[in-house]
Amino acid sequence: MSDSTYLANPLNLHSSMSASLDYPDYTDEQNKASILIVDDAPNDLELLSLLLRRQGYEVRIALNGSDALAEAAADPPDLILLAVYIPDIDGYQVCNHLKSNARTSEIPVLFISEIDDPLDKIEAFSVGGLDYINKPFQVLEVLARVETHLRLRSLQLQLQEQARILENQNRDLQRQILALRRVDKSLHPALRAAIANHEMQLKYQPIFELETSRIRGFEALLRWHHPDFGEVSPLDFIPLAETMGLIEALGEWVICQSCQDMGNWLQQAPHAAHLTMSVNISSRQINGSGFAQLIERVLHDNQIVPANLNFELTESTLMTDPDYVCEILRKLKNLGIQLCVDDFGTGYSSLKHLHNFPIDTLKIDRSFVSQEEWAVVNAIIMMADALGIGAIAEGIETPAQLHKLKSLACKQGQGFYLTEPLEAIAASKLILKNLSSTIYT
Ligand code: C2E
Ligand code: MG
Ligand code: MG
Repeated sequence: MSDSTYLANPLNLHSSMSASLDYPDYTDEQNKASILIVDDAPNDLELLSLLLRRQGYEVRIALNGSDALAEAAADPPDLILLAVYIPDIDGYQVCNHLKSNARTSEIPVLFISEIDDPLDKIEAFSVGGLDYINKPFQVLEVLARVETHLRLRSLQLQLQEQARILENQNRDLQRQILALRRVDKSLHPALRAAIANHEMQLKYQPIFELETSRIRGFEALLRWHHPDFGEVSPLDFIPLAETMGLIEALGEWVICQSCQDMGNWLQQAPHAAHLTMSVNISSRQINGSGFAQLIERVLHDNQIVPANLNFELTESTLMTDPDYVCEILRKLKNLGIQLCVDDFGTGYSSLKHLHNFPIDTLKIDRSFVSQEEWAVVNAIIMMADALGIGAIAEGIETPAQLHKLKSLACKQGQGFYLTEPLEAIAASKLILKNLSSTIYT
């Protein structure tokens, strides 16, 4: 409890008050903070509340410990200035109660006391007080400490909020990972059954001679319509099929189906015998024994010639075991099949090996076209030219890109602007139409 001997020195107060007139007039949010002053010394109360209200704070007062606890619990303030000696419960106990109540435990408590004893201060900190201000007050010091602790509290709240948001995001991500794992797990058996259940389909994207807009061939693109998951991208299920050891069966189905469709188209349009069917091939397929025999059988069954078939292999497929792959490619080449490096420019091809591979074309990765990295596109076209092979641009989406590619003397291309991947029947109609007319300019 304060007695008159411990009241703040009025002279000191007045000099401090006059100093406070020059103190910046805060208008930011911080000044709207609410402060509970717990003290029973009238002069101190009057001074503190005047001072803090002047700075824009909302000030509430409690004259004893029980009132302070009730007030803080009913409407938690942003900060409490707590006198050590007050009627009924002393400041330390009040602080203890505040800290043990979840509703008030986070409120910063600043002790105010006329006793300048280190043991008192230690006790103040041990019960959870953040600061200790001695009477008589120095106005600027009180304001600075109040403001600092409010700012720290506000930063702490921001951090807590950010931590909460991160926790929520983390929970969402964990949920998504779990869901994906579940999908992934159920995709395993589903993928095994997909071919038998006729869930796989091929679409065909025309490849054009850019200068004349005549069709040179088609790329077979695999589509999986899963009854529950909908369209599953080949970018997701091809790697899965590779790890599950299903790629050989899937790849065989693609080769058989695409050659069958090609055979049908050529029967309807025999004068389109020069067209090629480009098929994407995974490294495990060419490594499998009997691959060459499979190709010979399929070509024979569908009455198409090897030159109608073009295999697209990525740089990583070529580079897994370059010497061995080169040997297999030579065998395929000897059959008369054409070979293309897909997504060229994104992998790690060794130019020395590239030169040795019996390659017919480089397919410039669509990222270079979409990002309009024409210097790279030009360099690939020139390199292909120097190697005596062709270059195909993929991912042509705008007339400007088409125009630019023509100006760079890129001979062939494909992309949504020219034609999106088509179902077999639509592709066959396009062949008939394109042989008699051009379809884009
Ligand atoms: P890719 O061989 O590079 O095939 C070209 C991809 O580009 C296709 O995606 C095609 O739909 C898409 N595309 C075509 N034109 C445009 C365009 O203008 N803009 C954009 N943004 N994209 C275009 P898709 O069908 O999703 O195939 C993705 C990849 O999946 C293929 O890339 C290929 O690596 C692989 N893939 C597809 N079918 C097979 C397959 O039968 N066997 C194997 N092993 N891989 C396949
Ligand atoms: Mg491809
Ligand atoms: Mg590609």
